[in-house]
Amino acid sequence: MSVAGAKTAIGVRMSEGPEATYRRYLESGDWRLQKCAGCRRFVHFPRVLCPHCGADTLTWAQPTGFGRVYSVTVVHPPSGSEAPYNVSLVDLDEGVRLMSTIIGIGDRSPRIGERVRARFVDAPHGEGKLLVFETVEQP
Ligand SMILES: [Zn+2]
Repeated sequence: MSVAGAKTAIGVRMSEGPEATYRRYLESGDWRLQKCAGCRRFVHFPRVLCPHCGADTLTWAQPTGFGRVYSVTVVHPPSGSEAPYNVSLVDLDEGVRLMSTIIGIGDRSPRIGERVRARFVDAPHGEGKLLVFETVEQP
């Protein structure tokens, strides 16, 4: 068997991985996270087995989109190239943490613990959708 034939055989046997499924949902503007049918906990990053109980019964569920800012880094690009932006870790109400950016806050930095909600915005240059967060009123 040639090397090319071996690659083809592997490609036929392998199904789409969970990371690709996650990205496919995002690109269509439909945000999903994995949820374990065994222990009912959410899982992120996408994977094959639940990291909490080891079950292989991960399904795709819609998160509420709400969370709190866990940490923030403000990036200052070289002078004149673009405005400063933040890279933020958000703890979702579903119990998972992900990296994104907080928009709509002007020149200030996001505050640790600040309540946020996910939304999609158009990516630059028509490159699909980006999942970002905006602040919401604190009760
Ligand atoms: Zn589980």
